[in-house]
Amino acid sequence: MAEQKWVYSFGDGKAEGAASMRNLLGGKGANLAEMSNLGLPVPPGFTITTEVCTAFYANDRQYPAELASQVEAALAAVGQSVGASFGDAQNPLLVSVRSGARASMPGMMDTVLNLGLNDTTVEGLALRSGDKRFAYDSYRRFIQMYSDVVLGVDHHNFEEILEYYKEEHEFNLDTELTAEDWLRVIALYKERIEEELGKPFPQDVNEQLWGAIGAVFGSWRNARAETYRRLHNIPEGWGTAVNVQAMVFGNMGETSATGVAFTRNPSTGEHAIYGEFLVNAQGEDVVAGIRTPQSLTKKARLEANDRKPSMEEAMPEVFVQLTDVFDRLEKHYRDMQDVEFTVQNGKLWMLQTRSGKRTARAALKIAIDMAREGLIDEKTAVTRVDPAALDQLLHPTLDPDAERDIIATGLPASPGAASGEVVFSSDEAASARAEGRRVILVRIETSPEDIHGMHSAVAILTTRGGMTSHAAVVARGMGRPCVSGVGSIRIDYKAEQFTVMGVTVKKGDIITVDGSTGHVIRGEVPMLQPELSGDFATLMGWADTYRRMKVRTNAETPVDAMTARKFGAEGIGLCRTEHMFFDEARIVAVRQMILADDEKGRRAPLQKILPMQRDDFRQLFVIMKGLPVTIRLLDPPLHEFLPKTPEEIAQVSETTGMPADKLARRVQELHEFNPMLGHRGCRLGITYPEIYEMQARAIFEAAIEAANETGEAVIPEVMIPLVAMKGEFDLLRERIVAVAGAVEKERGTSLEYQIGTMIELPRAALMAREIAKSAEFFSFGTNDLTQTTYGISRDDAASFMNDYMAKKLISQDPFVSLDPDGVGELVSIAAERGREARPGIKLGICGEHGGDPASIAFCEGVGLNYVSCSPYRVPIARLAAAQAALAVAANAGHD
Ligand code: ADP
Ligand code: MG
Ligand code: MG
Repeated sequence: MAEQKWVYSFGDGKAEGAASMRNLLGGKGANLAEMSNLGLPVPPGFTITTEVCTAFYANDRQYPAELASQVEAALAAVGQSVGASFGDAQNPLLVSVRSGARASMPGMMDTVLNLGLNDTTVEGLALRSGDKRFAYDSYRRFIQMYSDVVLGVDHHNFEEILEYYKEEHEFNLDTELTAEDWLRVIALYKERIEEELGKPFPQDVNEQLWGAIGAVFGSWRNARAETYRRLHNIPEGWGTAVNVQAMVFGNMGETSATGVAFTRNPSTGEHAIYGEFLVNAQGEDVVAGIRTPQSLTKKARLEANDRKPSMEEAMPEVFVQLTDVFDRLEKHYRDMQDVEFTVQNGKLWMLQTRSGKRTARAALKIAIDMAREGLIDEKTAVTRVDPAALDQLLHPTLDPDAERDIIATGLPASPGAASGEVVFSSDEAASARAEGRRVILVRIETSPEDIHGMHSAVAILTTRGGMTSHAAVVARGMGRPCVSGVGSIRIDYKAEQFTVMGVTVKKGDIITVDGSTGHVIRGEVPMLQPELSGDFATLMGWADTYRRMKVRTNAETPVDAMTARKFGAEGIGLCRTEHMFFDEARIVAVRQMILADDEKGRRAPLQKILPMQRDDFRQLFVIMKGLPVTIRLLDPPLHEFLPKTPEEIAQVSETTGMPADKLARRVQELHEFNPMLGHRGCRLGITYPEIYEMQARAIFEAAIEAANETGEAVIPEVMIPLVAMKGEFDLLRERIVAVAGAVEKERGTSLEYQIGTMIELPRAALMAREIAKSAEFFSFGTNDLTQTTYGISRDDAASFMNDYMAKKLISQDPFVSLDPDGVGELVSIAAERGREARPGIKLGICGEHGGDPASIAFCEGVGLNYVSCSPYRVPIARLAAAQAALAVAANAGHD
């Protein structure tokens, strides 16, 4: 039997892998193989597959038996290809050891460079390169990285030694240190490591190599990686690959450099190279913000008002090579790429490419531009924009006419604007968010340890780092506004304040940051409401041509209804009538109604509410101009309308003249142990039919009035909540039909309407065949259906849901994303049984899941007619519904 292949080689214009093998080789390895196959300059190397990672964890952290010999052979081949040999005293092969998961996990796994150096091989490197300084610089970098990543000797140890050394010798920049200086620094490094570990830095190159490989696999389960996976729903089972690759050196002097770039602007989408590079530097120097990087293009340099030459000016030949590579990459991948490269003595080497993360604005522009450039078709363009990311564009921006007290300007690292309280630590940001406060995280710079804080903040501000710094990249990925590199701000973490231009801003003070301009503003600035126009509108138009499901909105106020219309809502899927009861002018009548002793007593206050409710409905019908509107009859338990504490009762009694003791007694009577499962929904309609009758009358009269006003027929959909059995529905339906008949007679006109129900109890889902005999539509109320299926109260879930997540009992909050297995099964059953009894029955969803892309995909699969969501999520739902339809069509094509 042939042994399993654990190692795949790449380089020299060919590779055993390809981009399509991402699951096996990880993103980095698959794309290194693909670039090699394309004939791009990639240093040779090999990828140890994700299957090794899986086997490693499945097998008590043991590697497969054949791995060692396969690695040895692949490493020998790499050495042959570059004409060097691993561990050779005269001519050592040096490698990088790089992690690479399936989905890119920026900053989560650490890379070790210059591996293979020791006290002997470093002399060989110095001799062969004729550059001692370079050799020792590489060695000290290796010791630093390896110790930090593999041996667990924190990098601050080395930073401290180096800082001290530079101070002592009056150096400013690392590049000023001579070979002798680096030799001394190396000695100090090694001393510190021995102190810390009680043993010397490993000199055996094979020990180094396996140490690094083990560290990459080990890091798959470190806390940072776990957090990132949880936030991004990446399964643990995927594993990471390890890439071992021959080193190329950007630190060989003035004709060498290292850089990162995007083939288009990831912030605006503009079709222009975007990136930074550093001369005489290696690897992470650009991202780490040790020196300020230089622009790639002359245009960008001029815009940034930077004196240091751009790459276009300083290394014109390499720049041309680079732009040529970018063109080839974009034509090949048909998407914007995020690349890492190194220049060694004037020769370009490609070290990484992947689809670039981008803001929603950039995603729209790039998708549309690429379609117009002929790189992709419109259908593909529609799939290129993450619906959830559109949220970024659906938030307010700073009102351009508003006064603003700009106290500093930094780099516009991630667009959008936000106001919030200043906090200086990520833990604080997280706890503030838990309390519902809006905070802005202010840091000198961020690191992977700050992910949770960045997630909790409404915006991020850093005083160091460029456009590709950790803060900038992560903020863009998360859609958080970010201003980075605000050099004029001095942060004092101890005093919990920062100063800039004589202004002191303390923890808790409000500032506003604008990630589109880089402005930092004191206080709060008025914001403008978002609009659907330009590229956004264009892409929505394309999406609509592929969409099958309709998108409605959940709205009960004219403002919400109008906003939703502006965003393209095609009707109202849920109008909650109780919200109209809370209005100050009405609550008195509502309370009188609740306090009344009998039906007769209730009718009088209901009579007062009727015209108000009718007018609410009329306005909604007018705004919706003949589009369908589903109105849910009163749903919450009555006690919600009554005062609670003795003080509130006294106050209500005083203002309304209702006797306080009577109020208190009624509150007592209405008290329930479990209101969610109590006297609510259609159960109210059964006990107090006059309430539903009033509401039905308001709906029908409003429909007639709105139709007269707009000239568009109005077909209201009357929805009965919390039905569990057909009998309940029939009883209430009969009453509503009677009201309709009465209104028709009084007004001398005929009415068209539908009566349906919400499916929000498991029993209703199971009895759907029966219920559908009477109900003309179903609307899945998946908030309550999730509560009643799981038997979890959403309002009480917070205390244990985090534990469930941490213990991996649940990977997704079922109140955010519809549980496809359990709750979803009930939805499927109800849809199927409903259609059996009433072919073509109208089916929709009105829970909050209606605005969640994954849940929308589920709804497409079940064949629902529409989804309904909050107004600001309507564009997200439109795009998600289009993508879901395209995905279903693509799958059908494969069968
Ligand atoms: P990350 O996933 O954090 O980006 P990488 O594995 O891409 O980590 O490595 C980080 C950087 O290290 C690269 O961008 C590149 O500059 C440098 N690097 C990695 N491998 C090599 C190599 N073989 N030669 C030169 N530089 C390398
Ligand atoms: Mg990194
Ligand atoms: Mg990288």
